[in-house]
Amino acid sequence: MNNFSSEKNKLFTLIVVAIIVGVITGYFFESLVFFLAGYILWHFDKLNSYSKWLQKGAQIPEMPIGSGIWARLSSDTVQLRKKILTERLKNQKLKVRFNEILRSFPFPTIVINGRHEIQWINKRAASILSLQRKKDVGIPLNNIIRSEKLLELLKSDDPGELEIDAPKNSNRRIHLTLSRLTRNIRTISIRDISESYRLNAARQSFISNASHELRTPLTIINGYLEILSQNKTLSKSDIEMIQTASEHSQRMSKLIQDLLVLSGLEQDDPKTTLKRNLKFATIINDVLEHLKKSPGYKQKIELKVAKDLQIYASEYQMYSIALNLIENAIKYSPDNSQITITWKKDKDRAIFSVEDQGEGLSEKEIERITQPFYRTKSAQGKMVKGTGLGLSIVHEAARRNEGFLEIESSPRHGSTFKIIFLMGKK
Ligand code: ADP
Repeated sequence: MNNFSSEKNKLFTLIVVAIIVGVITGYFFESLVFFLAGYILWHFDKLNSYSKWLQKGAQIPEMPIGSGIWARLSSDTVQLRKKILTERLKNQKLKVRFNEILRSFPFPTIVINGRHEIQWINKRAASILSLQRKKDVGIPLNNIIRSEKLLELLKSDDPGELEIDAPKNSNRRIHLTLSRLTRNIRTISIRDISESYRLNAARQSFISNASHELRTPLTIINGYLEILSQNKTLSKSDIEMIQTASEHSQRMSKLIQDLLVLSGLEQDDPKTTLKRNLKFATIINDVLEHLKKSPGYKQKIELKVAKDLQIYASEYQMYSIALNLIENAIKYSPDNSQITITWKKDKDRAIFSVEDQGEGLSEKEIERITQPFYRTKSAQGKMVKGTGLGLSIVHEAARRNEGFLEIESSPRHGSTFKIIFLMGKK
């Protein structure tokens, strides 16, 4: 029998006794009131000792001794208290372990919660971000580092990376890597990249200055070589020498031009780049008009272009993308083969692809192909003119317009160079 039924029995017996006493004495109603009042008072007394015991911390030795429902309530309370204490201990152990793991993080790290509030920060992160470890805990990170890009990253559910100026010190450049630890807890690892950022800026500015300085003398050399080649009194070997010199200096001009484009793209801040809604089909047609005049153009070109499909992008950068990819397809595929140019919408993406039936590329070549100055052995062997900068330009230009380059190719089966633009982000 459980405690509740025994309590019911107790009450039932009490009422029966009250009735018998009432019948015997002739005071039926008074007897019932007397016994019930006694019963209620007894419970009040138990309730009182139970509440006092609870207030004192519900310790087992001081457990109010009782029977029936009160004994049950007291023992249940003890069990519950034990459970809560064990859970608390477990949580404390977990917290200690969690803090130990965080302390062992070799890099400057911040831990934030679902509302982007700082929960924990190690010394190195605090020093890089000019934060006070105790004072700034609880403050949303985006209140301390005011950056739209950071807010976007924090709001997104995905892990991500970001490069920004450090707060209160614009000479310091930092790289943040956001990853998720639990559903609501995320860590941000911070790297101070000021040195490499400065070196990179110096490299870019050197390339850009050197290219500018070289451009003028080369234009003059090209001009003189042109005039010289028209001189009718020169011998055949002299003309050949001038032609070779002219070819090399023209290649150098192209190299400098590509270097200037690439360093311009690298230094470009996508926020300040002039962008507008463009019909990319028009740019593709302009590029084709230009390339049709080149001597190497002997392929059949099939156009599958959505004429009215617009993209919000930089016109100049989109022109570079179309020019380099179509020119490569012409340069690296045989005469009379087919080149298919596609511009289409696919859900929230716009895709530009150039497919050729050329020699194709191996996996290793694909891995390196967007590195500046990389040219495949086959391209060098066949003396196809090029600088090795075209695909680096394409890669950078795509990135600056929310796009990325994908290459599908295998040796002897042609190649497809695809730029996928994410339209939704604009
Ligand atoms: P390049 O000025 O040499 O064409 P790119 O950066 O445009 O420079 O291309 C780098 C190299 O990638 C090329 O030298 C060539 O070896 C290879 N490549 C580019 N496009 C193709 C293609 N469509 N088919 C085969 N190889 C290609």
